[in-house]
Amino acid sequence: MEEIVGKKVKIKAKGRIFEGIVMPSTTGSLVLKLNNGYNVGFVDYEVIEVEDLERREEKPPIFKNPKLPNVKIISTGGTIASKVDYRTGAVTSQFTAEEIVGDVPELAEICNVDACLLYNILSENMKVEHWVKLAREVYKSLKKYEGVIVTHGTDTMAYTASALAFMLSTPKPVVFVGAQRSSDRPSSDAAMNLVCSALTATSDLGEVVVVMHATTSDDYCYIHRAVKVRKCHTSRRDAFKSINYPPLGKVIYDTRKITWIADRIRRNEKELSIKDRMEEKVVLIKFFPGLKPDILEYYYSKGYRGFVLEGTGLGHVSTDWIDTLRKVTEDSLVVMTSQCLWGRICDRVYDTGRYLLKAGVVEGEDMLPEVALVKLMWLLGNYELEEARELVRKNIVGEITSSTRYWEAEY
Ligand code: GLU
Repeated sequence: MEEIVGKKVKIKAKGRIFEGIVMPSTTGSLVLKLNNGYNVGFVDYEVIEVEDLERREEKPPIFKNPKLPNVKIISTGGTIASKVDYRTGAVTSQFTAEEIVGDVPELAEICNVDACLLYNILSENMKVEHWVKLAREVYKSLKKYEGVIVTHGTDTMAYTASALAFMLSTPKPVVFVGAQRSSDRPSSDAAMNLVCSALTATSDLGEVVVVMHATTSDDYCYIHRAVKVRKCHTSRRDAFKSINYPPLGKVIYDTRKITWIADRIRRNEKELSIKDRMEEKVVLIKFFPGLKPDILEYYYSKGYRGFVLEGTGLGHVSTDWIDTLRKVTEDSLVVMTSQCLWGRICDRVYDTGRYLLKAGVVEGEDMLPEVALVKLMWLLGNYELEEARELVRKNIVGEITSSTRYWEAEY
C-alpha cells in the first residue's frame, strides 16, 4: 500500500465506490481522506483507479484585458501559498504564483496579473538578504506595473513590509498580503485578502501597506500602513492591527469599494528610488525585571552598534544599566521603545528616564519596537552614525506620528 500513499484513488469497498486521498496508516488498513474531509478506514477493498496528484495541470495562459491596470504578484511563500500535504498531514508551501491566480479568478476582473515566484519559504526563515532581494525585485516591477502585490507568510510580514517601506521610495502601491488559513480550507481568508489587495494595488495609494481581514467575517479588509501594523493574534483572521495610527482605509469585499480612513501618501507623490543597504549588526532587546546589562556588552563585543531596547512603560530599563549604556552610546545608537506598544516614549517624566537620556539613549517616539529595529538597520546601512542619530527620531515614512492617535473604533 506504501506506493499509493498520498495519491488520489477510487476504490470499491462495502459494495460502494469511494474516492479520496490515501493517508499514511500504521494499522495495515487503508485510510482514505474523502472529498468532504472525513477519514475512513477500509480493511476489505479493491483499488479501481489511481491518480497521481503530483502530475501538475498545465495552466491556460492568462487573458489580458487592455482596459485593466497591470499588477505584478511576487510570491514569497507562507500559508497563502500553501495546501495541506496529505502525505504528511502538514501544511507546506507548494504553490507557484500562477496557481494562486488560477485559484482566485475574481482577480482577472480587477487587473491583469503577471506573477513570479521569488521564494517559497515560511516567513520565520526570512533573513535581511531576502528583504533586500525582494526590494530590488519590487523596484524593478514598479517601473512596469501600476502596482505590486507581495504574498508573504503572516508571522514576519510586518518586518518585511517595514524594511521595504524604508528601502523603497514608491510612487505606486506596494501591497503585502497573507492568509491565516490555507486556501484548501473552507474558512480560508486567502481569496478575499487577495481580491482586496488587488483593489488596493490599483488604487490611488503611493506607499507600502499590509492588506488583511479586518474582522472574523468575510466582509472587509483593512489597509494598514506597513510601519504601523503588528500581527496581534496567532490564528484569528483579523490578527493584524494598526497601532498608534488608524488603518489607512478599508476595502469592502462585496462592493469592491475602498473607503479611506486616515491621511495617506497618494500615487505619484514620490519618485521611484531605492536605498537598499542594511546593517545586520543591530539587535532588539526586550527588558524584563532583573535582566542584567551584560546582554548589551555581549552584543557590543560582537561588533553590534545598533540597539533597540523594548523597555517598560514610558521607556525604562533598570538604572543598573546606566553605566553600560553610557559606554555603549559613545559609538553606537541606542533607541528606546516600549513593551506597551500603544503610546509614546517619554523619558523626561521619571528619574530613570532622565538618566537614560543623559546616558545617550534616544527616545523612539511612537515607533513599534520591530519597526525601530528595521529602521536602525536601514539608517546604519546608509548613513554615518551622527546623521543616523538625528534621523532615527524623525519621521521618514509614517513610522512616527506627531500626535499619537489611540483608535479602537470600528470604522
Ligand atoms: N509561519 C508561517 C509564516 O509566517 C505560516 C503562517 C502564515 O503564513 O500565516 O510564513
